[in-house]
Amino acid sequence: MATVELAGVCKSFGAVDVLHNINLSLEKGEFIVFVGPSGCGKSTLLRLVAGLEDITSGELRIAGEPMNDVLPARRGIAMVFQSYALYPHMSVYENMAFGLEQARLSKAEIRSRVETAAAMLQIEGLLDRKPKQLSGGQRQRVAIGRAITRDPRVFLFDEPLSNLDAALRVDTRIEIARLHERLPDTTMIYVTHDQVEAMTLADRIVVLNKGRVEQVGSPIELYETPASMFVAGFIGSPR
Ligand code: ADP
Ligand code: MG
Repeated sequence: MATVELAGVCKSFGAVDVLHNINLSLEKGEFIVFVGPSGCGKSTLLRLVAGLEDITSGELRIAGEPMNDVLPARRGIAMVFQSYALYPHMSVYENMAFGLEQARLSKAEIRSRVETAAAMLQIEGLLDRKPKQLSGGQRQRVAIGRAITRDPRVFLFDEPLSNLDAALRVDTRIEIARLHERLPDTTMIYVTHDQVEAMTLADRIVVLNKGRVEQVGSPIELYETPASMFVAGFIGSPR
């Protein structure tokens, strides 16, 4: 069954058309990576799925339900940003638990969710710290942990590794791949301009160019049979 469907989705900011007629159907549990150069519309597309921007025309559905007019908090999604977006005055525990009380979970259930997510990411020892006492890699784990505690049906990642140095980028990428294995029913939508991340993480890659889908396929398909010079240039196999 498809979890996330985009049907004829367009987005304009004023007179500027940023996304053109996007049609995609993502399978439940699939890891989809959107790649493309800076400015091609990747973040805008994620923000539409998250409900942080309105869709200009077309339809978004999640698990078959129309989502265009559904508030972000009701969509069953969680988002991880490049900039971590942690609350500086709160501890790691409080950051990961934030918002769960409004979801009417008991204190014990909240503690259990935070501890499970922290164990998955090996940050159990950091729960009492403040974000400024953490390295960049640890902060991004906390942001991912906070997303896990929401138990989302769809995870959205917007260039989550871009602020990390090379070694941490590899570690955190492996952590995200592991997360995908441990959450087989959760659909992952991941945005990057990095070919290596796309090739190593994706079940399917969507190549975006100036707001249009150039090609959709598995990493191998794109590598062996790129549909255009643009895809070949981006994925790295000369035709
Ligand atoms: P990417 O994430 O691929 O780098 P973005 O989705 O951030 O690209 O941006 C795509 C295009 O939309 C860019 O030309 C950007 O300037 C424009 N854009 C993004 N957000 C806004 C906005 N709120 N208002 C006007 N233009 C925007
Ligand atoms: Mg972006």
